[in-house]
Amino acid sequence: MPLENKLDELKSKGLLRLLKEIDNKSSTEIIFGGRKYINFSSNNYLGLSSDSRIKKKAAEGIDMFGVGSGSSRLVAGSLKAHHILERVLAGFKQKERALVFPAGYMANIGLVCSLAGKGDAVIMDRLNHASIIDAAKLSGARIFVYPHKDMDALEKALKRTGSYSSRLLITDSLFSMDGDMAPLEDISVLTEKYGASLMVDEAHATGVFGRNGRGVAEYLGIEDRLEFSMGTLSKALGCQGGFVAGKGELISYLINTARSFIYTTGLAPSICWAACEAIRIIEEEPQRREGLLKKSEHLRKKLKENGFNTLDSCSQIIPVLTGDIKTTITISDKLMVKGIFVPPIRPPTVPEGMCRLRISLSSEHTYEQIDHLIGSIRESV
Ligand SMILES: *Cc1c(COP(=O)(O)O)cnc(C)c1O
Repeated sequence: MPLENKLDELKSKGLLRLLKEIDNKSSTEIIFGGRKYINFSSNNYLGLSSDSRIKKKAAEGIDMFGVGSGSSRLVAGSLKAHHILERVLAGFKQKERALVFPAGYMANIGLVCSLAGKGDAVIMDRLNHASIIDAAKLSGARIFVYPHKDMDALEKALKRTGSYSSRLLITDSLFSMDGDMAPLEDISVLTEKYGASLMVDEAHATGVFGRNGRGVAEYLGIEDRLEFSMGTLSKALGCQGGFVAGKGELISYLINTARSFIYTTGLAPSICWAACEAIRIIEEEPQRREGLLKKSEHLRKKLKENGFNTLDSCSQIIPVLTGDIKTTITISDKLMVKGIFVPPIRPPTVPEGMCRLRISLSSEHTYEQIDHLIGSIRESV
C-alpha cells in the first residue's frame, strides 16, 4: 500500500499523530501555537530540566569538553565527564560500577541484547515499555509475556521455560502508562526460586521513589536482591541518556558486547556534567520528591472522589480512563481550550478500549494548578 493510503487509514481511525512545535517550556508550562498551557505531560518530574544549577553545569561542561563527544566511547570519546558521571551513578545506586548510554532506549537495547540471545528465554510483563519489547525482539530470544502483574502467570512461565539455558525476566518498576508498581519483592522471590535473572527498568522511578530517590527497589527495600538495574537520566533527572548499574563484570561485558553502546557516539559531555549535578540535587533535596508524591496523592484522591478511574496508580503518573479514542481526544481538546495540556493516550500505546488521559505531575505544579485541572476534567467529560 502506498504511504499516502496508509496515512489516510491512520487518520480515519483517529490514530494519525502529528508533532507539535513547542516554542518554549518551563517546568510546568508549555507555549505553542501562540498560546500558553499548563503542562501535565512532562517526565521532568522534579523540574530539574530548567533548574539554574543544572543549566550552569551543562554550560560548564561545554566549556570544558566541547559540545559533542567526538567519537564512540570505545575509540576516543570516553571523556572524563562520562567516567565521573559513571562513578557518581555507581555511588548513587550503591553498585560496583555504572555505564551510561546516549538514551534509555539504547540502554535497554544494549543490556537485553547482551544478556539474552537465540536459544534463551525472555519473560516479561505485558505492560513493559516499548524499548524493552523492541530489545527483547531484537535479541532473538524466545519471548514469554505474562498478564500485567500476574504472579501466578509469571510462575507458570518460569516453570514452562525450565529447559532454557538462560532466562531473563524484565519488568518496569513503575509502569509508564498505568503509574503502578511492579510487585518486585514477589518477582525477585520467584526469579530466585527458578534460577532466572531479573532486570528492572527504573526509568520513571529514579529520583522519585525511595528514601534517597534510587527508585522502587529502594522504596520496597529489596535493592540487595537485584544484581543490576537500569535507569534513565532523561526523566526526573531532567537531562538525557540511560544507564545500567551493577557488578564490574557486567559493565565490562556490556562495554564489549552492547552494540548500542559501541556503535554510537558517546553521550554529550555537557549532559554528563549536568546529570552529576542532578543526582546531587536528588540526594540532597528529598523534599522535591516528597512534595511530588504528596501532590500526586491529592490529585488521585480528588479524581476518585469525582468518580474517575485512575487504575492502580500510586505515583506521579496518573491515568484517567476515558474509553474510546474519540471521547478521549474530545476531552483532551476541551482541556486545551481551558489552557491545560494533558495528552490523550490511545492504541497502540494502550490496548483498545483503554484510552486515557495520562497526567504526569511535577513537584513544581502548584495545588492551584492541580485543582484547576480537576475542575476542568469534570467540566470536560
Ligand atoms: C522513557 C523510558 C525509557 C527510554 O528512556 P529514554 O531516555 O527516553 O530513551 C525506557 N524505559 C522506560 C520504562 C521508559 O519509560
